[in-house]
Amino acid sequence: METPNKLLYIDREAVATLAMARDGLLQPVTKLMNKQESEEVNKTGFYKDSIFPFSFILSPAGKRNNAVLKNAKEGDTLTLICENKECGTLIVDSVFEINKDERIQKIYGTNNPEHPGVKDTYKRLGNLAVCGEYTVEFDDIKNNIKKINKTITNLEAKNVSSIILSGKPFHRVHERLIRTALVKCDLLIIFLQKPYHDDGRLSYKVRYETLKYFLDNFIPKDRVILLPLENTYIFGGLNELTLNSIVSKNYGATKLIIGQNHAGLGAYWDHNEFISIVDTLETLNIKIEIMSEFVYCDKCTTLVSTNACPHGSHHHVKYHNESIMELFRLGIIPPAILMRKEVSAIILSELYPSRKATLKKIYQNLSTSSGVIDEFKCEDFYDGLMHLYQTSSLT
Ligand SMILES: [Zn+2]
Repeated sequence: METPNKLLYIDREAVATLAMARDGLLQPVTKLMNKQESEEVNKTGFYKDSIFPFSFILSPAGKRNNAVLKNAKEGDTLTLICENKECGTLIVDSVFEINKDERIQKIYGTNNPEHPGVKDTYKRLGNLAVCGEYTVEFDDIKNNIKKINKTITNLEAKNVSSIILSGKPFHRVHERLIRTALVKCDLLIIFLQKPYHDDGRLSYKVRYETLKYFLDNFIPKDRVILLPLENTYIFGGLNELTLNSIVSKNYGATKLIIGQNHAGLGAYWDHNEFISIVDTLETLNIKIEIMSEFVYCDKCTTLVSTNACPHGSHHHVKYHNESIMELFRLGIIPPAILMRKEVSAIILSELYPSRKATLKKIYQNLSTSSGVIDEFKCEDFYDGLMHLYQTSSLT
């Protein structure tokens, strides 16, 4: 008889993370850990002789879940429910208590609720973890792996690099990173972080669109793959870099390229620590390359690496994501040295959809073309305006 109390409610973040392990992205971790394994990993930071910073467990919050797990017996089948839909099953092997504070400390390196992700993870986490064989409905990762493998075979690619971007927003330095990376590899995988918590900044959709626009128009398409990276709690805080390396390697990359201001590097300002973290990560059998910082130099009149330009910092314009986003929020198009104008146009159109009628009117009044305008797009307006900004009048 089907008993209604054998339902386990989990969120999309948990589903994606379970799928990542099942599909081999977290190897050698491919299944949920039991009590003994999880204590071992938490203590040593290793799983099957490979670095893994915290235990891989399923411990969803909620009274209903707690009651189900309390009564679960070995061999029971639990139905996994996500957003009111059945999304998989789990055959109970064992249930055990966890220490929430310790787990959060392991993942984020802090229990401070102000730290990004900490508050959310406290909310998602229950006191009981369950382990056992599971299934989940989530095919994206499998499809991505297939796509990468097929491309590697077709290109006979030996050097496969990966870059992980948030694209908030996608600016000129990112373009440079991609071009520089491409020179040295056969195939470049660009992972765009796909968030599970809305941070009130640019939507994933528009970030994807901006990157795709750049790749479609300015990069040899067959040598680049753009994929989402399910940015779940496991990439939070302290261990982001380690998990990025593990996932990149398991996706088939031989090298991970990171910008010098990668959030995960922030914790390692000390030079020796910096070298030691890179050495440690390279034991995962992936090469780590740290790109130097890029700025715009008004003497060189181009993007330069800070260690390859003799002009002082007063000649340099920095690419500060948050400041560029602030310009967008004010409705201002960032200068073309910071952002490609077409990319800015895509972002402004997304942020200010209600401006369309006004922009259309201005466009028609300023435009000399008397012909019938095809469907008006806000992107065209911003693009046209930027063109005007850059046009000078000879008197
Ligand atoms: Zn310079």
